[in-house]
Amino acid sequence: MVTPNELKDRYKVVILGSGPAGLTAALYTARANLDPIIFEGFEAGGQLTLTTDVENYPGFPDGIQGPELIDNMRKQAERFGAKCVLAEVNSVDLSTRPFKVVTGENVLEAETLIVASGASARLLGLDSEKILIGHGVSTCATCDGFFFKGKELVVVGGGDSAVEEGVFLTKFATKVSIIHRRDKLRASKILQDRAFKNSKLDFIWDSVVEEILGNKDEGVKGVRIKNVKTGEVATKECQGVFIAIGHNPNTQILKAQLEMNEAGYIVTKDGSTITNVPGVFAAGDVQDQVYRQAVTAAGSGCMAALDAERFLEEHSE
Ligand code: NAP
Repeated sequence: MVTPNELKDRYKVVILGSGPAGLTAALYTARANLDPIIFEGFEAGGQLTLTTDVENYPGFPDGIQGPELIDNMRKQAERFGAKCVLAEVNSVDLSTRPFKVVTGENVLEAETLIVASGASARLLGLDSEKILIGHGVSTCATCDGFFFKGKELVVVGGGDSAVEEGVFLTKFATKVSIIHRRDKLRASKILQDRAFKNSKLDFIWDSVVEEILGNKDEGVKGVRIKNVKTGEVATKECQGVFIAIGHNPNTQILKAQLEMNEAGYIVTKDGSTITNVPGVFAAGDVQDQVYRQAVTAAGSGCMAALDAERFLEEHSE
């Protein structure tokens, strides 16, 4: 770990983000002697630090805690000389190479930039949700569904993610209720049909979750729901809450400089991490709206490192 005062003026590889994508890119570029610097960003470690047990990351037959997995990845990258700095990047200028990266008072130059700043799951904004995340509240059914065998669950949202996750969770749960703030789903027709046919799934319409009930030791016990049309408030018992109200890619500082899709995800050339700006690569959830898994993020972090290494070889002065 270095402090912002210890930053050099120029780096061959600057990495934005310290989730599995950024740290894998760091490991590979460090082993290639490219002396990478990783800006850990505002949610150091990324979404894995918001989860507890991770059982689907290969290599850990007994599972591993999300924060521990990230710590291990950081240590592994640092062992080969990668430097992490607990700071955010305020702005970048990609108009000329080397790129300019501004962090606090410092401006440094980057010969290549690997954007691995991830996506943040949208949350409801409740205090109880913040406290219980990883203790019965989750933003990833694929990651955490397995822990809710035989339990009753709710999913919040009405888009493809909520419906897909609701259906997926019926594999484990005794019952899943999807709570949606309107009386119409945004999800695609095919997913809706699948959900309506599933006898373990029901819908609570026109309703918002006002509070998640429970505590860190005992987990979730229920939700307090308000019907937005009638104003009626009710408590629903459940042992898990999945928030599926979308994600926001962390691409604000790159807007108008890199090609993005309409949802703000960075567009990469098929089968690579190459963006429309030569020397800038994107890896992990910031460019992946579909898979969004730690292992796919790590895989694309590796690809970004190899793409950056090749770019540096071809453009060395
Ligand atoms: P989304 O389409 O943006 O849907 C978000 C849902 O959450 C909406 O129903 C929205 O309600 C609700 N919502 C948003 N903020 C809320 C709040 N504060 N409180 C309560 N409800 C809230 O997000 P998504 O479902 O994650 O999908 C994102 C993209 O990925 C979409 O393009 C989707 O098609 C795609 N995707 C595709 C698949 C698939 O094809 N298998 C699977 C997953 C995702 P309103 O409807 O009232 O706005």
